[in-house]
Amino acid sequence: MSPGEQAEKLVADFGITSPEDLDVEAFAFDAGLEVEYQELQGCEATLVGFENRAIATVRPSTVVGRKRFSIAHELGHWTMHRGRSFRCRVDDPGDNLASNKDFEKHADEYASHLLMPRPIFQPMVKAIGKPGFRQINDLAETFTSSRTATCIRLAQIDTLPVVVACYGEDGLRWHVRAPDVPKRWFLRGALDDDSFAYELATSSGAEMKQGKQPAEVWFENSDAGNFEVMEHCARGRQGEVLVLIYLVDAEMMEAGYDPDAGTRRYSERGSYISRR
Ligand SMILES: [Zn+2]
Repeated sequence: MSPGEQAEKLVADFGITSPEDLDVEAFAFDAGLEVEYQELQGCEATLVGFENRAIATVRPSTVVGRKRFSIAHELGHWTMHRGRSFRCRVDDPGDNLASNKDFEKHADEYASHLLMPRPIFQPMVKAIGKPGFRQINDLAETFTSSRTATCIRLAQIDTLPVVVACYGEDGLRWHVRAPDVPKRWFLRGALDDDSFAYELATSSGAEMKQGKQPAEVWFENSDAGNFEVMEHCARGRQGEVLVLIYLVDAEMMEAGYDPDAGTRRYSERGSYISRR
């Protein structure tokens, strides 16, 4: 079973069918995991286990969903990686997404499925259609999860043609594509100055923006200019912008392999295809 399937099995075993019953401390208690709150230096949570019991120490936080995600993440380690101890940065699921640590990714996957299990989360997403950040904020509130965690879970729920991305001052930090979005679509490494996200990143004022865009604003592929996408963006933490790009043009979802994707390079004379 994948980490996500293990988490969803636990929810099903408890017979839970509504978000307010997803009591992560009760799940932990049941698994022999004691949760303590304490200031920690240099990490968000730790796990120390011995035989059938373990203690998860979690940094107190006022940010909605952060404590829950931390507890669920440590419960994931305890369930899947028993016999080890962990010091984790789990305050932003995007951080682990950008890293290569398998244990951390698995614990995050476990946590996101435990807090937003498919059988409960998916029907709510379906009822909305193509959520923008206003609806994502509502979903995050319903599931007491962070906005980033909710966006990432949204992309994993395979009913939407969406790519979720996070850009910082140094460019693309991480992205998640829905399973059905063709891998050929190659996200730009930096925000295009025609994007709404660029506007948010370079000005103060609006918290979120949305609108249609030529797909080439977001994707490097040479044929991206033939299509349109729907862009939703919102301010993230510390100078970051979160973006949802909906591939609303069915042809983009059906487009086949692009031999030039990812090999396009840019020079002062324009773009060219690198022949490696
Ligand atoms: Zn961890």
